[in-house]
Amino acid sequence: MQFVQPEVRLIGRPSVDYDEVAAYLKDVGGESWLERLDRGELNDAQNLAEFSGRSCYRSWEPGLNPNVTRIRTEQGKYLENLLSSAHGSVLEHVNFNFVFHNVSRVLTHEQVRHRAGTAVSQESLRFVRLDDLSFWFPDWAQQDGELMTRAVRLLQEMEKFQLWMADHFRLDDEGVPFSEKKHKTSFMRRFAPEGVATGLVWTANVRTLRHVIEVRTAEGAEEEISLVFGMVGELMKKEAPALFGDYTVTEGGAWVPGWRKV
Ligand SMILES: Cc1cc2nc3c(=O)[nH]c(=O)nc-3n(C[C@H](O)[C@H](O)[C@H](O)COP(=O)(O)OP(=O)(O)OC[C@H]3O[C@@H](n4cnc5c(N)ncnc54)[C@H](O)[C@@H]3O)c2cc1C
Repeated sequence: MQFVQPEVRLIGRPSVDYDEVAAYLKDVGGESWLERLDRGELNDAQNLAEFSGRSCYRSWEPGLNPNVTRIRTEQGKYLENLLSSAHGSVLEHVNFNFVFHNVSRVLTHEQVRHRAGTAVSQESLRFVRLDDLSFWFPDWAQQDGELMTRAVRLLQEMEKFQLWMADHFRLDDEGVPFSEKKHKTSFMRRFAPEGVATGLVWTANVRTLRHVIEVRTAEGAEEEISLVFGMVGELMKKEAPALFGDYTVTEGGAWVPGWRKV
């Protein structure tokens, strides 16, 4: 039995092909947009959102669309206007990939309820045998000696039972078909606590991320998911400040957006 900390890693982010963008812009007459981007500090996530937004009105520069006589040239202002006017569908183009490690099934049950704009690959405890019950204890729990003694004893007992079952079912004997291992492993997981550490790969677009960060860190949100989505918020603010810089974080850790429900 190991004590673990929930972790989130950002493992993938958008990548824009600027040559293809340039070829398209040449055709529609919007090359000045590319010239305005700071080539030294390209932020593909923000550029993709801006590109998608500008494609709607041909607002690469004034006059390409006779209805557009003025444009916002600064990316920060442009994206702020997208957020403030709730033009959120544009943000659906911008996807990020995360791996959540050492999170409980308490967390994953709640996380996978978010369907819009997500993709999930969750560790299968039907296939992956639990020979170690790793567990996260929040700080306040760790400071309660009697609680910890009883909790650890219980977890060790459950872990022993996992090992006993594997032995009892002879899962490691030569020639046991995988279907049998899977069948018994799935039975055995019923005796694991919901707090057992597991993981998933999670992809979400920026519109979804903004919604999930808000609701899963809100006052009253479950403790672990709130902690973890606070981490997601920090990652995203660093990654795309113009798309996540409007949040204020309360003392209680709630991420409150400046622009709601984009
Ligand atoms: C504090 C809290 C307590 C909760 N308690 C419970 C509980 O006790 N029991 C329980 O079962 N669940 C509970 N949930 C889960 C909750 O009901 C949602 O399933 C979950 O938060 C997913 O969010 P979402 O509905 O916004 O869906 P998402 O998939 O995140 O969708 C984002 C938004 O897209 C729109 N959308 C998505 N799908 C549809 C659709 N099919 N039709 C129309 N619009 C759509 C909605 O505007 C939605 O808000 C709780 C959630 C929170 C935050």
